[in-house]
Amino acid sequence: MAKKVAIIGAGTAGCAAAYQFQRLGGWEIEIFEGGNTIGAGVRTHFRGGHPYTFGPRHFLTKKQEVFDYLHSIVPMRKLEHRFVTYLEEEADFFNYPISASDIPRMKRGKEIQEQLDAIEGVEITEPKNFEEYWISKVGTILYSKFIDTYSKKMWRLENNKQIDTFNWSPKGTPIKKDSSHAWSEAISAYPIALNGYNDFFDKVQDFATFHLRCPIDEIRPDTCEIVVKGLPKKYDKIVNTIALDMVLKEDLGELPFVGRDLTTIILPTEHAFPEDVFFVYYANAEPYTRIVEYKKLSGYKSPSTLLGLEVPSTNGKHYPLPIKKFRAIHDEYAKRLGKNVYSIGRAGKYDYQVDIDDCVEQALGIYEELK
Ligand SMILES: Cc1cc2nc3c(=O)[nH]c(=O)nc-3n(C[C@H](O)[C@H](O)[C@H](O)COP(=O)(O)OP(=O)(O)OC[C@H]3O[C@@H](n4cnc5c(N)ncnc54)[C@H](O)[C@@H]3O)c2cc1C
Repeated sequence: MAKKVAIIGAGTAGCAAAYQFQRLGGWEIEIFEGGNTIGAGVRTHFRGGHPYTFGPRHFLTKKQEVFDYLHSIVPMRKLEHRFVTYLEEEADFFNYPISASDIPRMKRGKEIQEQLDAIEGVEITEPKNFEEYWISKVGTILYSKFIDTYSKKMWRLENNKQIDTFNWSPKGTPIKKDSSHAWSEAISAYPIALNGYNDFFDKVQDFATFHLRCPIDEIRPDTCEIVVKGLPKKYDKIVNTIALDMVLKEDLGELPFVGRDLTTIILPTEHAFPEDVFFVYYANAEPYTRIVEYKKLSGYKSPSTLLGLEVPSTNGKHYPLPIKKFRAIHDEYAKRLGKNVYSIGRAGKYDYQVDIDDCVEQALGIYEELK
């Protein structure tokens, strides 16, 4: 008789996990999704023919095997690009991550360089908070230009001292000494098909049963049960991909998230950004954090272009806060899961650094453990 697995959430992590149980063989796979669609924010939608997702969702990994795996399901095109930040006080755009080669053209370039020279080689072993970490890496002027306002906006916080974990996105070094991009060490790619990752999600229907509009009320690790619409259902394994405070009934505290609103705009021009710029970050008082020109990722050809503006909000559980006390609460919940319940993905791990590649890698890890 086939063993049974319940997967909670039909986003990247849930679907990636489904592939791994199919690969193991002998599993009956059921996926419970609270919303209407498969793929969550990574699903491609269309506006006026333009493909877009909720935010950029480009694929970035340092692991060839993770790229190869996804590429075998949805063929990917490798991308060469850079990201820039708009600094209003400079009335100009600069590379992000911060590039040392941009400093001479900044208004206080000489002072910035003096600060960088003064901190060169000085390592703070245990920075107390995010602000201290960044100032120790880039000095006060670059911190105030690129990081301070952006971070408060991104995390909807009054003060960056509230953040006490430091490997802050985008992945990579705080300041690049050469003109290369932080991404040059990683494989950067996007699906070739105009419908993006949709085939990755939709092909799961060939071997798993989806229950859409079917939010899970509870996971009971001791009995390996989930509670759906008030009724318990028993499984051999459970893969959770949502915040653990939502599904474990023991109240160990709330796991807070920052949400996002997305506004899309179509412009009557073929390209809005320079050829190698796909995203622009905004580090000033404007409400949005980032604008994406989607056709740069999708390769869509059109005389017009679609932009997406992301505004931090309370809508959705998109960004787990990078604050140790909340991570500690998550860890306490995770200890309750036992050996038959996995928790993966961005919310399931309560780690905002979990991206598409990490979801795939975590699912591959389940395969390795169970094979
Ligand atoms: C705006 C934005 C832009 C991003 N851009 C990139 C990028 O460019 N590159 C990159 O690699 N990563 C990016 N990421 C991160 C990456 O896309 C996510 O980490 C990843 O897709 C998360 O997948 P997931 O399956 O863990 O979670 P989700 O995609 O959030 O899926 C969880 C699913 O669970 C469902 N659910 C919620 N509650 C319940 C319930 N009670 N019962 C059942 N189902 C439920 C949700 O409806 C959802 O479908 C971005 C993230 C955001 C928010």
